[in-house]
Amino acid sequence: MPLYQDQTLKIYNSLSGKKEIFKPINEGHIGMYVCGPTVYSNVHLGNCRTFMSFDMIFRYLKHLEYKVRYVRNITDAGHLENDADEGEDKIAKKARLEQLEPMEVVQRYTVDFHQISEKFNMLPPSIEPTATGHIIEQIEIIKDIISKGFAYAINGSVYFDVVKFNENHNYGKLSGRKLEDMIANTRALSAQDEKKNPQDFALWKKAEPQHIMRWPSPWGDGFPGWHLECTAMSTKYLGENFDIHGGGMDLKFPHHECEIAQAEASTGCTPVNYWLHANMLTLNGRKMSKSTDNNLFPYEIFTGDNSILSKAYTPAVVRFFMMQAHYTSILDLSDDALLASEKGYFKLMEAMEAVNNLPVAANSGFDVLGWKQSCYDAMNDDFNSPILIAQLFDAVKHINLIKEGKEQISETDKTILKQTLEAFVFDVLGLEAKNTVNDNSDKLTGVVNLLIELRNEARLNKDFATSDKIRDQLLAMDIQLKDGKDGTSFSLQ
Ligand code: AMP
Ligand code: ZN
Repeated sequence: MPLYQDQTLKIYNSLSGKKEIFKPINEGHIGMYVCGPTVYSNVHLGNCRTFMSFDMIFRYLKHLEYKVRYVRNITDAGHLENDADEGEDKIAKKARLEQLEPMEVVQRYTVDFHQISEKFNMLPPSIEPTATGHIIEQIEIIKDIISKGFAYAINGSVYFDVVKFNENHNYGKLSGRKLEDMIANTRALSAQDEKKNPQDFALWKKAEPQHIMRWPSPWGDGFPGWHLECTAMSTKYLGENFDIHGGGMDLKFPHHECEIAQAEASTGCTPVNYWLHANMLTLNGRKMSKSTDNNLFPYEIFTGDNSILSKAYTPAVVRFFMMQAHYTSILDLSDDALLASEKGYFKLMEAMEAVNNLPVAANSGFDVLGWKQSCYDAMNDDFNSPILIAQLFDAVKHINLIKEGKEQISETDKTILKQTLEAFVFDVLGLEAKNTVNDNSDKLTGVVNLLIELRNEARLNKDFATSDKIRDQLLAMDIQLKDGKDGTSFSLQ
Protein backbone atom coordinates (compact mmCIF):
# COMPACT_ATOMS: atom_id res chain seq x y z
CA MET A 1 0.00 0.00 0.00
CA PRO A 2 1.52 3.36 -0.97
CA LEU A 3 2.45 5.63 1.91
CA TYR A 4 0.03 8.42 0.97
CA GLN A 5 -2.88 6.18 1.90
CA ASP A 6 -1.78 6.32 5.55
CA GLN A 7 -1.38 10.08 5.69
CA THR A 8 -3.76 13.02 5.40
CA LEU A 9 -1.98 15.82 3.63
CA LYS A 10 -3.39 19.32 4.01
CA ILE A 11 -2.30 22.15 1.75
CA TYR A 12 -2.92 25.86 2.07
CA ASN A 13 -4.67 26.77 -1.16
CA SER A 14 -4.19 30.43 -2.09
CA LEU A 15 -7.32 30.23 -4.22
CA SER A 16 -9.65 29.43 -1.32
CA GLY A 17 -7.51 31.02 1.39
CA LYS A 18 -7.87 27.83 3.43
CA LYS A 19 -5.99 24.70 4.32
CA GLU A 20 -7.63 21.88 2.39
CA ILE A 21 -7.26 18.12 2.41
CA PHE A 22 -5.27 17.30 -0.69
CA LYS A 23 -6.95 15.00 -3.18
CA PRO A 24 -5.34 14.55 -6.58
CA ILE A 25 -7.43 14.34 -9.75
CA ASN A 26 -6.12 10.87 -10.57
CA GLU A 27 -5.45 8.72 -7.55
CA GLY A 28 -1.76 8.19 -6.94
CA HIS A 29 -0.69 10.73 -9.57
CA ILE A 30 0.09 14.42 -9.20
CA GLY A 31 0.64 17.07 -11.86
CA MET A 32 2.58 20.06 -10.52
CA TYR A 33 3.64 23.17 -12.43
CA VAL A 34 6.00 25.81 -11.02
CA CYS A 35 6.96 29.05 -12.78
CA GLY A 36 10.67 28.83 -13.53
CA PRO A 37 13.32 31.53 -13.74
CA THR A 38 13.59 34.27 -16.33
CA VAL A 39 17.09 33.54 -17.53
CA TYR A 40 18.58 37.01 -18.08
CA SER A 41 20.85 37.08 -15.03
CA ASN A 42 22.27 34.86 -12.29
CA VAL A 43 19.69 33.54 -9.86
CA HIS A 44 19.91 35.20 -6.44
CA LEU A 45 19.22 33.50 -3.13
CA GLY A 46 15.62 34.76 -3.18
CA ASN A 47 14.92 32.89 -6.40
CA CYS A 48 16.70 29.89 -4.91
CA ARG A 49 14.44 29.97 -1.86
CA THR A 50 11.29 29.68 -3.96
CA PHE A 51 12.71 26.82 -6.03
CA MET A 52 13.97 25.09 -2.87
CA SER A 53 10.51 25.38 -1.28
CA PHE A 54 8.96 23.60 -4.25
CA ASP A 55 11.81 21.11 -4.33
CA MET A 56 10.97 20.20 -0.72
CA ILE A 57 7.27 19.89 -1.65
CA PHE A 58 8.14 17.73 -4.69
CA ARG A 59 10.36 15.56 -2.49
CA TYR A 60 7.66 15.06 0.14
CA LEU A 61 5.02 14.16 -2.45
CA LYS A 62 7.44 11.63 -3.92
CA HIS A 63 8.25 10.37 -0.46
CA LEU A 64 4.53 9.71 0.05
CA GLU A 65 4.85 7.49 -3.04
CA TYR A 66 2.81 9.63 -5.38
CA LYS A 67 3.87 9.55 -9.01
CA VAL A 68 4.59 13.22 -9.58
CA ARG A 69 5.01 14.92 -12.94
CA TYR A 70 6.78 18.14 -12.04
CA VAL A 71 6.93 20.73 -14.83
CA ARG A 72 9.04 23.84 -14.30
CA ASN A 73 9.58 26.12 -17.26
CA ILE A 74 12.42 28.33 -18.39
CA THR A 75 11.23 31.82 -19.33
CA ASP A 76 13.37 32.74 -22.31
CA ALA A 77 11.09 35.25 -24.08
CA GLY A 78 8.16 37.58 -23.53
CA HIS A 79 8.98 38.76 -19.99
CA LEU A 80 9.22 42.54 -20.36
CA GLU A 81 10.87 45.03 -18.03
CA ASN A 82 8.86 45.80 -14.88
CA ASP A 83 6.67 42.76 -15.61
CA ALA A 84 4.65 45.10 -17.84
CA ASP A 85 3.10 45.02 -21.32
CA GLU A 86 5.40 47.73 -22.62
CA GLY A 87 9.15 48.04 -22.63
CA GLU A 88 12.10 45.92 -23.58
CA ASP A 89 12.27 42.14 -23.24
CA LYS A 90 14.52 41.40 -20.23
CA ILE A 91 16.62 38.93 -22.23
CA ALA A 92 16.88 41.11 -25.35
CA LYS A 93 17.99 44.02 -23.16
CA LYS A 94 20.77 41.98 -21.58
CA ALA A 95 21.80 40.75 -25.04
CA ARG A 96 21.98 44.36 -26.29
CA LEU A 97 24.00 45.52 -23.28
CA GLU A 98 26.45 42.63 -23.48
CA GLN A 99 26.50 42.40 -27.28
CA LEU A 100 25.39 38.79 -27.28
CA GLU A 101 22.75 36.80 -29.11
CA PRO A 102 19.64 36.53 -26.90
CA MET A 103 20.05 32.75 -26.94
CA GLU A 104 23.59 33.14 -25.62
CA VAL A 105 22.13 35.01 -22.66
CA VAL A 106 19.51 32.28 -22.22
CA GLN A 107 22.11 29.52 -22.40
CA ARG A 108 24.50 31.18 -19.96
CA TYR A 109 21.92 31.77 -17.24
CA THR A 110 20.13 28.48 -17.74
CA VAL A 111 23.44 26.72 -17.14
CA ASP A 112 24.05 28.91 -14.06
CA PHE A 113 20.59 28.03 -12.73
CA HIS A 114 21.19 24.30 -13.26
CA GLN A 115 24.59 24.43 -11.57
CA ILE A 116 23.20 26.28 -8.56
CA SER A 117 20.22 23.94 -8.38
CA GLU A 118 22.58 20.99 -8.23
CA LYS A 119 24.69 22.61 -5.51
CA PHE A 120 21.54 23.08 -3.44
CA ASN A 121 20.65 19.45 -4.10
CA MET A 122 17.44 20.32 -5.92
CA LEU A 123 15.98 17.51 -7.97
CA PRO A 124 15.53 18.25 -11.66
CA PRO A 125 11.89 18.61 -12.71
CA SER A 126 10.31 15.90 -14.85
CA ILE A 127 9.94 18.33 -17.76
CA GLU A 128 11.66 21.70 -18.19
CA PRO A 129 10.03 23.35 -21.22
CA THR A 130 11.05 26.71 -22.67
CA ALA A 131 8.72 29.51 -23.77
CA THR A 132 10.45 29.80 -27.16
CA GLY A 133 9.91 26.08 -27.74
CA HIS A 134 6.13 26.56 -27.38
CA ILE A 135 5.31 29.53 -29.63
CA ILE A 136 2.99 27.42 -31.79
CA GLU A 137 0.99 26.27 -28.75
CA GLN A 138 0.73 29.87 -27.56
CA ILE A 139 -0.55 31.06 -30.95
CA GLU A 140 -3.18 28.28 -30.91
CA ILE A 141 -4.45 29.35 -27.48
CA ILE A 142 -4.66 32.99 -28.62
CA LYS A 143 -6.72 31.96 -31.68
CA ASP A 144 -9.01 30.00 -29.38
CA ILE A 145 -9.45 32.91 -26.94
CA ILE A 146 -10.19 35.31 -29.83
CA SER A 147 -12.74 32.89 -31.29
CA LYS A 148 -14.51 32.76 -27.94
CA GLY A 149 -14.73 36.55 -27.83
CA PHE A 150 -12.35 37.19 -24.91
CA ALA A 151 -9.50 38.79 -26.85
CA TYR A 152 -9.09 41.32 -29.65
CA ALA A 153 -6.36 41.98 -32.19
CA ILE A 154 -5.26 45.53 -32.85
CA ASN A 155 -2.26 46.89 -34.81
CA GLY A 156 -0.52 43.51 -34.81
CA SER A 157 -0.97 42.87 -31.07
CA VAL A 158 -3.60 40.82 -29.27
CA TYR A 159 -5.02 41.76 -25.86
CA PHE A 160 -7.13 39.83 -23.40
CA ASP A 161 -10.45 41.59 -22.79
CA VAL A 162 -10.64 41.58 -19.01
CA VAL A 163 -13.96 43.43 -18.78
CA LYS A 164 -15.64 41.01 -21.19
CA PHE A 165 -14.20 38.05 -19.29
CA ASN A 166 -15.38 39.42 -15.97
CA GLU A 167 -18.99 39.51 -17.18
CA ASN A 168 -19.38 35.82 -16.47
CA HIS A 169 -16.08 34.89 -14.80
CA ASN A 170 -14.28 36.30 -11.81
CA TYR A 171 -11.09 38.16 -12.71
CA GLY A 172 -9.38 38.69 -9.36
CA LYS A 173 -10.49 35.52 -7.59
CA LEU A 174 -6.94 34.40 -6.84
CA SER A 175 -5.53 37.72 -5.68
CA GLY A 176 -8.71 38.80 -3.93
CA ARG A 177 -9.00 41.93 -6.07
CA LYS A 178 -12.13 43.34 -7.63
CA LEU A 179 -12.09 44.55 -11.20
CA GLU A 180 -14.20 47.62 -10.28
CA ASP A 181 -11.54 48.65 -7.72
CA MET A 182 -8.73 48.06 -10.21
CA ILE A 183 -10.54 50.25 -12.73
CA ALA A 184 -11.20 52.94 -10.13
CA ASN A 185 -7.54 52.95 -9.06
CA THR A 186 -5.87 53.17 -12.46
CA ARG A 187 -5.28 56.24 -14.52
CA ALA A 188 -7.16 56.57 -17.79
CA LEU A 189 -5.62 55.21 -20.97
CA SER A 190 -3.26 57.56 -22.70
CA ALA A 191 -4.12 58.59 -26.25
CA GLN A 192 -1.50 56.31 -27.81
CA ASP A 193 -2.61 53.26 -25.80
CA GLU A 194 -4.26 50.71 -28.04
CA LYS A 195 -5.93 48.63 -25.30
CA LYS A 196 -9.65 48.96 -24.65
CA ASN A 197 -9.01 49.06 -20.90
CA PRO A 198 -5.81 49.48 -18.88
CA GLN A 199 -6.47 46.11 -17.16
CA ASP A 200 -6.35 44.24 -20.48
CA PHE A 201 -3.10 42.35 -20.86
CA ALA A 202 -1.07 41.28 -23.88
CA LEU A 203 -1.37 37.79 -25.31
CA TRP A 204 0.74 38.72 -28.32
CA LYS A 205 2.81 41.82 -28.93
CA LYS A 206 3.77 43.24 -32.29
CA ALA A 207 7.55 43.34 -32.63
CA GLU A 208 8.88 46.78 -33.47
CA PRO A 209 11.68 46.72 -36.09
CA GLN A 210 14.41 46.86 -33.42
CA HIS A 211 12.92 43.94 -31.43
CA ILE A 212 15.13 40.97 -32.25
CA MET A 213 13.18 38.18 -30.53
CA ARG A 214 10.32 37.77 -33.01
CA TRP A 215 8.18 35.05 -34.54
CA PRO A 216 5.63 35.02 -37.38
CA SER A 217 1.96 34.79 -36.40
CA PRO A 218 -1.50 35.38 -37.92
CA TRP A 219 -1.20 38.96 -36.55
CA GLY A 220 2.24 39.63 -38.00
CA ASP A 221 5.74 39.31 -36.55
CA GLY A 222 5.75 39.51 -32.80
CA PHE A 223 6.28 37.67 -29.53
CA PRO A 224 4.01 36.05 -26.94
CA GLY A 225 2.90 37.63 -23.66
CA TRP A 226 4.62 36.41 -20.51
CA HIS A 227 1.47 35.06 -18.82
CA LEU A 228 0.52 32.97 -21.83
CA GLU A 229 3.63 30.81 -21.87
CA CYS A 230 2.79 29.25 -18.51
CA THR A 231 -0.77 28.51 -19.62
CA ALA A 232 0.55 26.87 -22.80
CA MET A 233 3.23 24.78 -21.11
CA SER A 234 1.26 23.74 -18.03
CA THR A 235 -1.81 22.59 -19.95
CA LYS A 236 0.25 20.93 -22.67
CA TYR A 237 2.04 18.66 -20.22
CA LEU A 238 -0.46 18.38 -17.37
CA GLY A 239 -3.86 18.79 -19.03
CA GLU A 240 -6.58 21.45 -18.92
CA ASN A 241 -7.17 20.79 -15.25
CA PHE A 242 -4.25 19.77 -13.05
CA ASP A 243 -3.45 19.48 -9.36
CA ILE A 244 -0.84 21.99 -8.19
CA HIS A 245 0.50 25.28 -9.53
CA GLY A 246 3.24 27.07 -7.62
CA GLY A 247 5.41 30.14 -7.77
CA GLY A 248 6.63 33.03 -5.66
CA MET A 249 4.07 35.18 -3.84
CA ASP A 250 4.94 38.11 -6.11
CA LEU A 251 3.59 36.18 -9.11
CA LYS A 252 0.06 35.88 -7.71
CA PHE A 253 -0.98 39.08 -9.42
CA PRO A 254 -1.02 39.69 -12.30
CA HIS A 255 0.82 36.61 -13.58
CA HIS A 256 -1.23 33.82 -12.02
CA GLU A 257 -4.50 35.73 -12.13
CA CYS A 258 -3.95 36.11 -15.88
CA GLU A 259 -3.09 32.44 -16.25
CA ILE A 260 -6.44 31.53 -14.72
CA ALA A 261 -8.27 33.98 -16.98
CA GLN A 262 -6.55 32.69 -20.14
CA ALA A 263 -7.22 29.06 -19.32
CA GLU A 264 -10.85 29.63 -18.35
CA ALA A 265 -11.43 31.74 -21.47
CA SER A 266 -10.04 29.08 -23.78
CA THR A 267 -11.18 25.83 -22.17
CA GLY A 268 -14.09 26.92 -19.99
CA CYS A 269 -12.65 25.01 -17.04
CA THR A 270 -10.60 26.18 -14.11
CA PRO A 271 -6.99 25.10 -14.71
CA VAL A 272 -5.61 24.45 -11.24
CA ASN A 273 -7.04 22.83 -8.10
CA TYR A 274 -4.39 23.98 -5.59
CA TRP A 275 -2.45 27.23 -5.92
CA LEU A 276 0.67 27.38 -3.74
CA HIS A 277 2.65 30.55 -3.16
CA ALA A 278 6.09 30.62 -1.59
CA ASN A 279 7.06 33.68 0.38
CA MET A 280 9.97 36.01 -0.16
CA LEU A 281 13.52 35.98 1.08
CA THR A 282 14.48 39.41 2.34
CA LEU A 283 17.82 41.05 2.99
CA ASN A 284 17.98 44.02 5.35
CA GLY A 285 14.20 43.69 5.65
CA ARG A 286 13.63 44.26 1.94
CA LYS A 287 12.78 41.74 -0.78
CA MET A 288 15.77 40.42 -2.67
CA SER A 289 15.30 41.35 -6.26
CA LYS A 290 17.17 41.22 -9.52
CA SER A 291 16.28 44.74 -10.47
CA THR A 292 17.75 46.35 -7.32
CA ASP A 293 21.09 45.90 -5.61
CA ASN A 294 19.45 44.26 -2.62
CA ASN A 295 20.80 40.86 -3.56
CA LEU A 296 23.00 38.07 -2.39
CA PHE A 297 24.16 35.49 -4.88
CA PRO A 298 24.84 31.83 -4.16
CA TYR A 299 28.53 32.05 -5.09
CA GLU A 300 28.95 34.93 -2.61
CA ILE A 301 27.60 32.83 0.20
CA PHE A 302 29.67 29.77 -0.80
CA THR A 303 32.89 31.84 -0.75
CA GLY A 304 31.95 34.32 1.98
CA ASP A 305 32.82 37.07 -0.47
CA ASN A 306 30.31 39.69 0.64
CA SER A 307 30.72 42.30 3.35
CA ILE A 308 27.57 41.18 5.22
CA LEU A 309 29.07 37.70 5.75
CA SER A 310 31.65 36.79 8.38
CA LYS A 311 32.50 33.53 6.58
CA ALA A 312 31.55 31.12 3.79
CA TYR A 313 28.60 28.76 4.22
CA THR A 314 28.07 25.42 2.53
CA PRO A 315 25.03 24.84 0.30
CA ALA A 316 23.62 22.37 2.83
CA VAL A 317 23.81 24.93 5.64
CA VAL A 318 22.06 27.51 3.46
CA ARG A 319 19.41 24.95 2.55
CA PHE A 320 18.94 24.08 6.24
CA PHE A 321 18.55 27.80 6.99
CA MET A 322 15.81 28.04 4.33
CA MET A 323 14.03 24.92 5.61
CA GLN A 324 13.88 26.34 9.14
CA ALA A 325 11.18 28.74 7.96
CA HIS A 326 7.76 27.74 6.68
CA TYR A 327 7.54 28.26 2.93
CA THR A 328 4.65 30.75 3.31
CA SER A 329 6.54 32.95 5.82
CA ILE A 330 8.88 35.78 4.97
CA LEU A 331 12.47 34.90 5.82
CA ASP A 332 15.20 37.45 6.44
CA LEU A 333 18.77 36.46 5.67
CA SER A 334 21.55 37.61 7.96
CA ASP A 335 24.98 36.41 9.01
CA ASP A 336 23.78 35.76 12.58
CA ALA A 337 20.89 33.62 11.35
CA LEU A 338 23.24 31.64 9.10
CA LEU A 339 25.70 31.11 11.95
CA ALA A 340 22.89 29.77 14.12
CA SER A 341 21.71 27.48 11.30
CA GLU A 342 25.23 26.18 10.80
CA LYS A 343 25.45 25.24 14.48
CA GLY A 344 22.09 23.51 14.35
CA TYR A 345 22.92 21.72 11.15
CA PHE A 346 26.18 20.29 12.50
CA LYS A 347 24.42 19.21 15.68
CA LEU A 348 21.85 17.33 13.61
CA MET A 349 24.49 15.69 11.42
CA GLU A 350 26.54 14.62 14.45
CA ALA A 351 23.48 13.00 15.98
CA MET A 352 22.77 11.19 12.72
CA GLU A 353 26.29 9.78 12.77
CA ALA A 354 25.87 8.80 16.40
CA VAL A 355 22.72 6.74 15.76
CA ASN A 356 24.81 4.00 14.14
CA ASN A 357 26.76 3.39 17.34
CA LEU A 358 23.96 3.64 19.88
CA PRO A 359 23.85 0.76 22.38
CA VAL A 360 20.59 -1.20 22.27
CA ALA A 361 18.47 -2.52 25.12
CA ALA A 362 15.39 -4.70 25.54
CA ASN A 363 13.00 -1.72 25.61
CA SER A 364 12.88 1.87 24.52
CA GLY A 365 12.64 4.85 26.82
CA PHE A 366 10.79 6.94 24.28
CA ASP A 367 7.96 6.39 21.84
CA VAL A 368 9.79 6.10 18.52
CA LEU A 369 6.70 5.29 16.46
CA GLY A 370 4.83 8.25 17.98
CA TRP A 371 7.80 10.47 17.15
CA LYS A 372 7.87 9.15 13.57
CA GLN A 373 4.19 9.99 13.10
CA SER A 374 4.76 13.50 14.45
CA CYS A 375 7.33 14.02 11.68
CA TYR A 376 4.64 13.07 9.17
CA ASP A 377 2.07 15.24 10.97
CA ALA A 378 4.39 18.25 10.57
CA MET A 379 4.80 17.71 6.85
CA ASN A 380 1.12 16.82 6.39
CA ASP A 381 0.26 20.21 7.85
CA ASP A 382 1.02 22.24 4.71
CA PHE A 383 4.65 21.05 4.51
CA ASN A 384 5.60 22.54 7.86
CA SER A 385 9.36 22.06 7.67
CA PRO A 386 10.18 24.16 10.81
CA ILE A 387 7.96 21.91 12.93
CA LEU A 388 9.55 18.87 11.29
CA ILE A 389 12.99 20.23 12.21
CA ALA A 390 11.81 20.74 15.80
CA GLN A 391 10.80 17.06 15.80
CA LEU A 392 14.20 16.08 14.41
CA PHE A 393 15.84 17.94 17.29
CA ASP A 394 13.62 16.10 19.70
CA ALA A 395 15.20 12.93 18.30
CA VAL A 396 18.66 14.51 18.69
CA LYS A 397 17.91 15.07 22.38
CA HIS A 398 16.99 11.38 22.81
CA ILE A 399 20.03 10.21 20.83
CA ASN A 400 22.30 12.19 23.13
CA LEU A 401 20.57 10.81 26.24
CA ILE A 402 20.96 7.25 24.96
CA LYS A 403 24.61 7.93 24.10
CA GLU A 404 25.20 9.10 27.67
CA GLY A 405 23.48 5.99 29.04
CA LYS A 406 20.59 8.01 30.47
CA GLU A 407 17.93 6.49 28.22
CA GLN A 408 17.43 3.24 26.29
CA ILE A 409 16.38 2.17 22.83
CA SER A 410 15.49 -1.26 21.41
CA GLU A 411 17.10 -2.72 18.31
CA THR A 412 13.87 -2.38 16.25
CA ASP A 413 13.29 1.20 17.37
CA LYS A 414 16.89 2.11 16.60
CA THR A 415 16.36 0.92 13.01
CA ILE A 416 13.11 2.89 12.74
CA LEU A 417 14.79 5.98 14.20
CA LYS A 418 17.69 5.76 11.76
CA GLN A 419 15.49 5.15 8.71
CA THR A 420 13.06 7.92 9.62
CA LEU A 421 15.84 10.43 10.24
CA GLU A 422 17.44 9.58 6.91
CA ALA A 423 14.13 9.77 5.06
CA PHE A 424 13.25 13.21 6.41
CA VAL A 425 16.71 14.76 6.52
CA PHE A 426 18.09 13.47 3.23
CA ASP A 427 15.08 12.60 1.06
CA VAL A 428 12.51 15.17 2.16
CA LEU A 429 14.54 18.18 3.32
CA GLY A 430 17.23 17.41 0.75
CA LEU A 431 20.11 17.98 3.17
CA GLU A 432 23.11 16.12 1.91
CA ALA A 433 25.41 14.31 4.29
CA LYS A 434 28.38 14.95 2.04
CA ASN A 435 28.06 18.68 2.70
CA THR A 436 28.81 18.34 6.38
CA VAL A 437 32.11 18.33 8.17
CA ASN A 438 34.00 17.16 5.11
CA ASP A 439 32.43 19.64 2.76
CA ASN A 440 34.53 20.40 -0.29
CA SER A 441 33.79 24.11 -0.43
CA ASP A 442 35.11 24.47 3.13
CA LYS A 443 38.22 22.58 2.07
CA LEU A 444 38.65 24.81 -0.95
CA THR A 445 38.34 27.91 1.24
CA GLY A 446 40.99 26.48 3.57
CA VAL A 447 43.41 25.69 0.74
CA VAL A 448 43.01 29.09 -0.93
CA ASN A 449 43.46 30.89 2.39
CA LEU A 450 46.65 28.91 2.95
CA LEU A 451 47.91 29.99 -0.49
CA ILE A 452 47.01 33.61 0.34
CA GLU A 453 49.15 33.34 3.50
CA LEU A 454 52.07 31.87 1.54
CA ARG A 455 51.72 34.66 -1.00
CA ASN A 456 51.78 37.29 1.77
CA GLU A 457 54.96 35.73 3.17
CA ALA A 458 56.55 35.72 -0.30
CA ARG A 459 55.64 39.38 -0.73
CA LEU A 460 57.15 40.26 2.65
CA ASN A 461 60.34 38.52 1.54
CA LYS A 462 60.20 40.41 -1.77
CA ASP A 463 59.90 37.07 -3.57
CA PHE A 464 57.58 38.48 -6.22
CA ALA A 465 58.16 35.59 -8.62
CA THR A 466 56.45 33.27 -6.10
CA SER A 467 53.69 35.68 -5.12
CA ASP A 468 52.81 36.37 -8.77
CA LYS A 469 52.91 32.67 -9.56
CA ILE A 470 50.37 31.95 -6.81
CA ARG A 471 48.06 34.72 -8.00
CA ASP A 472 48.32 33.84 -11.71
CA GLN A 473 47.94 30.11 -11.29
CA LEU A 474 44.90 30.55 -9.08
CA LEU A 475 43.44 32.87 -11.70
CA ALA A 476 44.04 30.22 -14.34
CA MET A 477 41.79 28.01 -12.19
CA ASP A 478 39.17 30.81 -12.12
CA ILE A 479 40.00 31.76 -8.54
CA GLN A 480 40.60 35.49 -8.39
CA LEU A 481 42.51 37.10 -5.52
CA LYS A 482 41.51 40.61 -4.55
CA ASP A 483 43.82 42.80 -2.48
CA GLY A 484 41.92 45.26 -0.31
CA LYS A 485 42.70 47.40 2.71
CA ASP A 486 41.49 44.61 5.02
CA GLY A 487 43.73 42.00 3.41
CA THR A 488 43.23 39.61 0.52
CA SER A 489 39.97 37.91 -0.32
CA PHE A 490 39.10 35.62 -3.21
CA SER A 491 36.21 34.87 -5.47
CA LEU A 492 35.35 31.97 -7.75
CA GLN A 493 34.68 33.13 -11.31
P1 AMP B 1 12.06 35.45 -12.05
O1 AMP B 1 13.32 34.83 -12.56
O2 AMP B 1 12.20 36.91 -11.75
O3 AMP B 1 10.89 35.17 -12.98
O4 AMP B 1 11.74 34.76 -10.65
C1 AMP B 1 11.82 33.37 -10.45
C2 AMP B 1 11.11 32.99 -9.17
O5 AMP B 1 11.76 33.55 -8.03
C3 AMP B 1 9.65 33.46 -9.09
O6 AMP B 1 8.84 32.41 -8.61
C4 AMP B 1 9.69 34.59 -8.10
O7 AMP B 1 8.48 34.73 -7.42
C5 AMP B 1 10.80 34.14 -7.17
N1 AMP B 1 11.42 35.24 -6.42
C6 AMP B 1 11.86 36.43 -6.87
N2 AMP B 1 12.37 37.17 -5.85
C7 AMP B 1 12.27 36.42 -4.73
C8 AMP B 1 12.63 36.61 -3.35
N3 AMP B 1 13.21 37.72 -2.92
N4 AMP B 1 12.35 35.60 -2.48
C9 AMP B 1 11.76 34.47 -2.90
N5 AMP B 1 11.41 34.22 -4.18
C10 AMP B 1 11.66 35.18 -5.09
ZN1 ZN C 1 4.47 31.43 -14.83
